[in-house]
Amino acid sequence: MNFKDQTVVVTGGTRGIGRGITESFLKEGATVIATFAGNTTAAESFRETSEFRDRLFIEKFDVSKSNECAQFFEKVVENYSQIHVLVNNAGIRQDALGASMSEEQWDSVIDINLKGTFNMTQQAILHMMKKRYGRIINISSIGGKLGLPGQANYAASKAGQIAISKAMSKEVAKRNITINNVLPGFIETELISDLPEDLVKQYKSEVPMKRFGSTKEVAAAVLFLASDNASYITGSSLEVSGGL
Ligand code: NAP
Repeated sequence: MNFKDQTVVVTGGTRGIGRGITESFLKEGATVIATFAGNTTAAESFRETSEFRDRLFIEKFDVSKSNECAQFFEKVVENYSQIHVLVNNAGIRQDALGASMSEEQWDSVIDINLKGTFNMTQQAILHMMKKRYGRIINISSIGGKLGLPGQANYAASKAGQIAISKAMSKEVAKRNITINNVLPGFIETELISDLPEDLVKQYKSEVPMKRFGSTKEVAAAVLFLASDNASYITGSSLEVSGGL
């Protein structure tokens, strides 16, 4: 897979799964704009220590704000002329049982995971339609299919990302723009570092492969969907979950 001469945007691309995706695209020759929301220390240290820092750029904004997404796209299109790939990876968890979930917990997860995906996809396709080329990949979750207890907000947001791809992929297919999803299972990142040890043990025993996945394993699926090898795949989902 060769992404030389391609410009890739990865939201939440400076930590966790997003960082793994950014690193894999950089290794394959792409220029990557990795975005983040507030953890400037992590973002800057990632850039400073990257062997590909001449092709790695970082931008801070909130994907849940449509005006910030529009401003970001205006700036990147001016600087890079063409965005070939968008990875909607930015996401959060705010778990609580449905009966006691606060409005804030519901709204923040839906706003960032679901509305953020829509905001970025809308801006990307406005640009990609003019170029008659584009690859959009959402990092959804197996949780959007299974629905784990305590995750009504998260599961709804992740199922919603799949629904967005189903609807919007049909709108843009004839312009050579594909929109697909990668559905990770449990992946070792800070997002799940708060899980109690006994729950980690239980979840690992429930995964047929008996282990959590790595960010590299998720990135491999993303690069495939962004490549020419996936040119006839759209509106589809690829599970990277160890068989969960
Ligand atoms: P993570 O380590 O917590 O990283 C999340 C990233 O998203 C960070 O870069 C963060 O920016 C960014 N972000 C958060 N809110 C944002 C906002 N409002 N605007 C822009 N960026 C924002 O999480 P992760 O585990 O890598 O998860 C990445 C994606 O994979 C998420 O969509 C998650 O739902 C999905 N996923 C994860 C797992 C798993 O087991 N880890 C499983 C299935 C799916 P800052 O660095 O500035 O905070």
